[in-house]
Order: sequence, then structure tokens, then C-alpha cells
Amino acid sequence: MPVYLRIAVPSPLRRLFDYLPPADWDPEVAAALQPGTRVKVPFARRSLVGVLVATTAHSPVPMAQLKTADSVLENTPLLTPAVVELCLWAAHYYQHPPGEVFSAALSKRLREGRAPARDAWRITSQGLGLGDGALPRAPRQQAALRALRDGAAIDASDLKSRGIASNALRELEKKGLVERCEVKSSRPEPTGTGGLAPSAAQADAVAAISASTGSFSCHLLEGVTGSGKTEVYLQVITHCLRQGLQALVLVPEIGLTPQTVARFRERFDAPIALMHSGLSDAERSQSWDQARRGNAAIILGTRSAVFASCPSLGIIIVDEEHDASYKQQDGFRYSARDVAVKRAQLEGCPVLLGSATPSLESTHNALLGRYRHHRLDQRAGGRSMPALDAIDVRRQPLSAGLSPALLERCEQRLAQGQQVLLFLNRRGFAASLQCHDCGWIAECEHCDARLTVHRRRRQLRCHHCSAQRPLPQACPGCGSHSLLANGLGTEQAETFLQQHFSRWPVHRVDSDSVTDQADMARLVHTVNEGEPCILLGTQMLTKGHHFPGVGLVGVIDSDALLFSADFRGEERLAQLLTQVAGRAGRGDRPGEMLLQTHYPDHPLLKALLTRPYADIAADLLLQRQRRGLPPSGHLLLLRTDARNEGQGESFLRSVRQGGEHRVTPASQLIGPLPSAMPRRAGKHRSQLICLSPDRASASSAAAVLVAQAESLRPPAGLSWFIDVDPLDTL
Ligand code: ADP
Ligand code: ZN
Ligand code: ZN
Repeated sequence: MPVYLRIAVPSPLRRLFDYLPPADWDPEVAAALQPGTRVKVPFARRSLVGVLVATTAHSPVPMAQLKTADSVLENTPLLTPAVVELCLWAAHYYQHPPGEVFSAALSKRLREGRAPARDAWRITSQGLGLGDGALPRAPRQQAALRALRDGAAIDASDLKSRGIASNALRELEKKGLVERCEVKSSRPEPTGTGGLAPSAAQADAVAAISASTGSFSCHLLEGVTGSGKTEVYLQVITHCLRQGLQALVLVPEIGLTPQTVARFRERFDAPIALMHSGLSDAERSQSWDQARRGNAAIILGTRSAVFASCPSLGIIIVDEEHDASYKQQDGFRYSARDVAVKRAQLEGCPVLLGSATPSLESTHNALLGRYRHHRLDQRAGGRSMPALDAIDVRRQPLSAGLSPALLERCEQRLAQGQQVLLFLNRRGFAASLQCHDCGWIAECEHCDARLTVHRRRRQLRCHHCSAQRPLPQACPGCGSHSLLANGLGTEQAETFLQQHFSRWPVHRVDSDSVTDQADMARLVHTVNEGEPCILLGTQMLTKGHHFPGVGLVGVIDSDALLFSADFRGEERLAQLLTQVAGRAGRGDRPGEMLLQTHYPDHPLLKALLTRPYADIAADLLLQRQRRGLPPSGHLLLLRTDARNEGQGESFLRSVRQGGEHRVTPASQLIGPLPSAMPRRAGKHRSQLICLSPDRASASSAAAVLVAQAESLRPPAGLSWFIDVDPLDTL
């Protein structure tokens, strides 16, 4: 009986490939290979590292055309069965090449075909043969030998914390006295210490979630800002660790702050593997290994951590589940939140989605009873919710966007020794540069977008591509020196605030001024010393940080957020403003938020000031239902980026014509159309939208459209991709 290895090979092709086992392999042994094992295979004249998905007795490919695998890279699979299943599901659901999906589940080191790092040490028999008094002239090596003398393997990081130098170990290795090895879970009994006495609502949530350990269930924890959601996570994790199970915790891209990590480290005397983009490849590989070997009790990471193999997973937690950073916006366009739910199902464990402002998707699932809904309606520790109010700025004199009323309130709070947070979601000095005499406007050469003025660096910059050029002194059209910088940005507001409030420091927080975690950590430290100050910043300031001294939050330009053409615009605004407001009054004193607007009667603004988020979400959900939009309907998007205008649309028209009759009539095709900003970074973007009433028709439409696009030969300079459940349709 022949045996074939079915392999996910990292390539842009949407299929698996069959290979014969390496020439010297006994078929029976090959048939027993486990999915999740890496196999090196010849592919397009190269040798690539693929992942075994199954062994089969039949292949649709004739024997003569099958190639032979080069080698099998390990005896025991590197991916758990659940992660193998998850990758196959995701490849199908997102219509993405399986080889690339499996790559997302391996660290860089493993993708490159290298062996997992052996980051533990043990003594060799030669080393054991030496007496205690050996190596008298090398006390550090002597100490290392002594630490390993009882024969057990010890983790490198563990040895380091005991003061054993790694170069001493390397010297001993050269002498053949110690060797590197892999340790399997010898995890000490993990403990959680110092939990707070939970409120009744917290206790109910913890009890219900903990009681569901061991089988799949989905929980939505909807708790107002500062209600103690994190405390619920910590207590649920404690329960999970006590049963010897691992906890996987996902946080948004910029939510994984040193503050968050510190909170976990303080609570748990257990190994925590961190996974985020700020780590080096080596550090990240090490985290993946710790998770996979079961050595990490808690895996705390951003989006991609959802694919980390964990042999004994007990719970998955997704914090701030509404956050847009869970959706990958290029390449493999998955939603880590949705993948997390699927994963919990495959693992047979509970998943907990938490937010003060749940997505309409999760709200919908909770209303349908698919998710269990737990609510925390009060802030923890008896703190009150911030008071909200609008400032009508019509006909008011504005200084750098700030009205006299807002300035006065800032001054009052500062004089009382409190901190003030001002939110302005536009970095740079000004949104655009215009000639007062002829009307010329500075535009990007590569995008349909205006250039932003960065005065400090004397540059014009495009926020959509990397284009930048020097700030002109005169209009290139008419030579006039009368150039207007329109639309307020953080740089300009900062300059004004520094002059106006010269008694208090102003901290600007945006991606120009705070470039890494160390900058942010310094800032958080300074601010949390509690002296009155002004924090001025973009969204960067609003996520994951806890500034107990902030009494007043001011939104300088609410109007810039009000009119979005996208169908998720209102949901995003409600989430953003609720989250921003949530920065106020987290300490001992009650806080307030003031919204500056020219549209005080805007229905959504009025609703935000007077009704809880959950009510607004329920209304928005009804509107979506009426229009058949997500989460009632299911969207997918076929997009093209083309060198020449019109190319994308004609390609998508062919896709539509070829596929239309095979898409179920319930699905509605819209387009092709140019996207809202048709030209970006020199490419023209077009799209074909498909809206389906249910998941099954969406899924079959996705398969049809992708097959059709693949069957066409795209013109040179055109690339296309599919986005399933896109975040926006612009
Ligand atoms: P969230 O994650 O909902 O924003 P946190 O878990 O960060 O809320 O809690 C907000 C604040 O309230 C923190 O300072 C936390 O220590 C405190 N807190 C949470 N739960 C309790 C509790 N049961 N008793 C007292 N303080 C609490
Ligand atoms: Zn001009
Ligand atoms: Zn540009």
C-alpha cells in the first residue's frame, strides 16, 4: 500500500501538495507520522519547509508526477492537533493559501527549518565524573557544574536567575562537561496571589466562567471602563492554572503595555510567555517554544499569539475584543478574535471576550444566546462614571481648536492639582497646506490624499504612504508666501498649550513623539507620579493605560470623527468616545469628559451623552439588521491594486461575469467600483463587494469568486486579494 504525505507548503497557491515519503522510509512508519510535523520538500526547484496535514493512501496526482519529500524534521509534531485543525479551517474560511496560514503558526526559527532551540542545560557523564573540587581556577564554571550536579535539566533562564553566567556554561560545553537539551514541562505548581475581594458581579462572572472549564463555551464580559474586567480575567486564570492548564490571553496591538505585563507578573508566580511585535526573533521563538512545550502557564500576546500551540489549553481570553487591531490588514487577513472563538471550539475550552464597548458582532451573538453575557455595570472600588457634556463651539473664538470654555475647565482642574487629557486624533502640525492667493493644495504624488504639515521637521508628509518632502516657503503655483496650514494637528495644539499653560507641563503622545515602549513607560511613570499636567494625544493615549490622576478628558475635535462614510463609522465613534471618556476619573476623584462640537444636536452625540453604550449598540444593531449588513449579513471583498487606472475594474468585471451564475442568488454582488481613496502609494485600488444573508452562502461565494479570479490571467502590475469579514468597505 503506498503512503502519501499531504503537505501545506508555504506558497501563494491555495492548495495542499502530495509527496512520497523520503526514499529510505518504511511506508508503515511514514503512515504513522502525525499531522503538525515539519517536512522538507522540493518545490519549484527549491527546498521548502512544509507542515504535514495528513497521510493518505490515495492521491489524485499520478504516481509518476509525485515528488519525494527530502526529509522529516522531527519525531514528534510541533503543532498540536487543534492548531493543525485551526489552520485548515482558517485557510478555508479566509480563502488563504494553507501554506501561508501554517507559517503563521510557527516561529521564524521553525519556519526556517531549524530545530527548536534547546534552551536548557544538563550535566554530561564526563561532568558527573569530576569531583566537587575540580576547576578550582574557574569558580563560575564550578558554580555552574554544582548547580547541575543532581542530573536534572534546568532551563537557561532559570540558571540565569540563579546567577549562573551563560558564558561559563558555554565554556563547560566546549570541555564536554555539560550539554544543551530540551526540557519538557517541569512547570512548578503555579500560584496566583493577592487577588482583590471581588464584587458580587465580578464573583458571578468568575464563577460562571470557571464552572465551564473543560468544554467549549463562549462568554462576553461587558463591563464599563474601570469596572474590573482585568480582575475577572486574573481570577479566571488563577482557577485555570490550579487545574494545571494553560491560559492564552490576547490583547490589542498597543494594549500590551509594561503596565499590563507588570499586573500579570505581580499576580502570578508562574512562567509567562510574551508574544508581541516588540520582541526580537530569538525572544519570540523562545516564547513559542515555551508555549508549545507547556512550560509557559500563561501566554500573553497580540494578534498572532492566537496560533501558538499549547498542549494543555484551559481558557482563551480576548481583551478589548472590539479592537480593530485584531484584524490583520495585509497578507493573511484573519480576525484573531474570530479565530480565538473557533480555536476554543476545537480545543474544547471556554473563550472569554471582554470589552467596555463590545463589537456589534459579539453583542449580536450574546443577544442570540450563542454567548453567555456577563455584565459589570459599576466601576470598581465605588468610583463613579465620568460626567459627560458637550461644548457647542459654534461662533466661539478658538485658539488652536480650543474654546474658552474648555480652556477654563482645564485651568480649574489643573489648579486643583488634577491632570487633564486632551484627545486629538490627528498628528502633525496641520492637516493640509493651502495657498491663500490661488487655492493650490499640497497633495501626495502617489495617493489621492493631501499632505500633512509637520512643522517641527519642516516637512510635508503623506500619512497613507511614506512620501515626504520639504515644507515649501512659497506656493509652487503662484509664488505667493501666503500659505495657510488648515486643520489642527497635535504639534500645533502642543505649541499653543505650552504657551497658554506655562505653569504646567504638556506631554504630547502620538507616534511621532513616542516611538517605542521605553518612551511610553517613561511617560507613564512621570505622569503617574501624580503632578498636574496636560496629556495631549491621539488614540495611542486611550488604550490600555491607567492614569488615575486624570480628572478631565477633553475631545478637541469631535466633528472630525462624526461623518464617516463607512458602515462601521457610528459603531467606531461610539466605541472610541466611550473608551476616551473611560480615561477620566479612574482615581479617587470623579471625572468628566467634554466634547467640543459644531453639531451639538447630532443624534449619535446626543445619545452618547445620555445613554449607556449598550443601548446605543442595540440601536445600531437594528439599523444593520434592516440593511442586511454585518453582523446580520456577511461581507466579503475582492480587491485589486493595479498600476494603471481601469485595469482593476476590468479584471473584477471578468471575475463577476465568470462567477455570477455560480454565486447563490441570495448573495448580492456590488461593483466593481473604485475604492474611496482610489490611488494609494501609486497603485489604483478597486473592489468587488459580496453581501450574503448567511455564512454558508458567503462561504460558497468566496470560494467561487476566488476560483474565478485564479482562473484569469491578471495583467502585469495587477495584484488581487480577498478580504473575508472586512473591517471597512472603503
Ligand atoms: P477594567 O479592566 O474593567 O478597565 P480594571 O480591572 O483595570 O478594570 O480595574 C480598574 C481598577 O479597579 C483597578 O485599579 C483595579 O485594581 C480596581 N479593582 C478591580 N476590581 C476591584 C475590586 N473587586 N475591589 C477593589 N478594586 C478593584
Ligand atoms: Zn498660489
Ligand atoms: Zn501618499
